[in-house]
Amino acid sequence: MKLLSVVVPVYFEEECINQFITEATLALDKLDINWEIIFIDDGSTDATISIIKKYTDLNKKIKLIQFSYNHGKQLAVTAGIKHASGDFILTMDPDLQDPPEEIGNFLKEINKGFDIVLGIRKEKRDKFLNNLFSKLFWTFLEKTTDIKIPKGISSMRIFNRKVADKFLEYKEQNRFIEGILMHIGMKRGTLFIDQRERFAGKSKFSFRRKVKLAFNVIFDYSELPLKIAVKLGFYLFLLGILFMLIIITLKFTLIDFQIGWPSLICSIILGSGLQLFFIGIAALYIGRIYKETKGRPLYSIIETTNF
Ligand code: UDP
Ligand code: MG
Repeated sequence: MKLLSVVVPVYFEEECINQFITEATLALDKLDINWEIIFIDDGSTDATISIIKKYTDLNKKIKLIQFSYNHGKQLAVTAGIKHASGDFILTMDPDLQDPPEEIGNFLKEINKGFDIVLGIRKEKRDKFLNNLFSKLFWTFLEKTTDIKIPKGISSMRIFNRKVADKFLEYKEQNRFIEGILMHIGMKRGTLFIDQRERFAGKSKFSFRRKVKLAFNVIFDYSELPLKIAVKLGFYLFLLGILFMLIIITLKFTLIDFQIGWPSLICSIILGSGLQLFFIGIAALYIGRIYKETKGRPLYSIIETTNF
């Protein structure tokens, strides 16, 4: 019988874990497949770990990887995929926004001959500002990069061993899982799911954290900021030449005139400000290159259970 690995990143989820495990195991036991649930604890200091450990003691199919500190969801999921031995791997969140009763449908869908099936939420149950922000984010990505990510993509998705192995070949430190999956390509299906409200606790992605993530992705997947610098620099250069020509013609036709020093100071400040700004952008890219070239391990695991 085939094995399904369910990969679940957790970070301060003590209020959701019990309910999640109850619903997920119920859904999994109904299926005609072997399963394992791999929790990756991303550095929680609440009761999350001790609750999960109660279950890992009772059921060897429930496994736990503990990070030594918070690495972020992207790396948590990466570690989960690395440790998963399933023929199929399904990732989902434990806050029950991704409904466990859909697991069977994902399995059915991928068995139609897809390599990966992405969950698409019918409607996002989230705050107005969050929705607006994620819309802006995805539209920006679509316009400035060549990654085409389906609208309303959820974190619930299933893929086969082929995709998982490919995924693990991507060594980048700054990872954007959706971007990598799109880059892998393969035969892709989608499944519409009804997302629920978060079961308990609150979202770990504050507005600030989302903005930070968005900038990460923009700098990793888009050369737009660099292109803006080149274009702007070029047009300013043209503008400078145009002004020079105007001044020269004026000098020869209108005889004598004085240009005040304030305008000079203004243009110097403006020009050097712009230069600094775009050198800064280039430096951000260099910083990222530096980080990648060090090739440090992606994460630090303190303990694993049931592997
Ligand atoms: N998460 C994580 N590390 C983090 C932040 C979040 O592993 O640094 C996990 C979290 O426990 C949850 C999932 O990522 O399982 C999605 O987070 P959340 O539900 O807070 O985000 P939202 O659904 O509101 O976007
Ligand atoms: Mg959530």
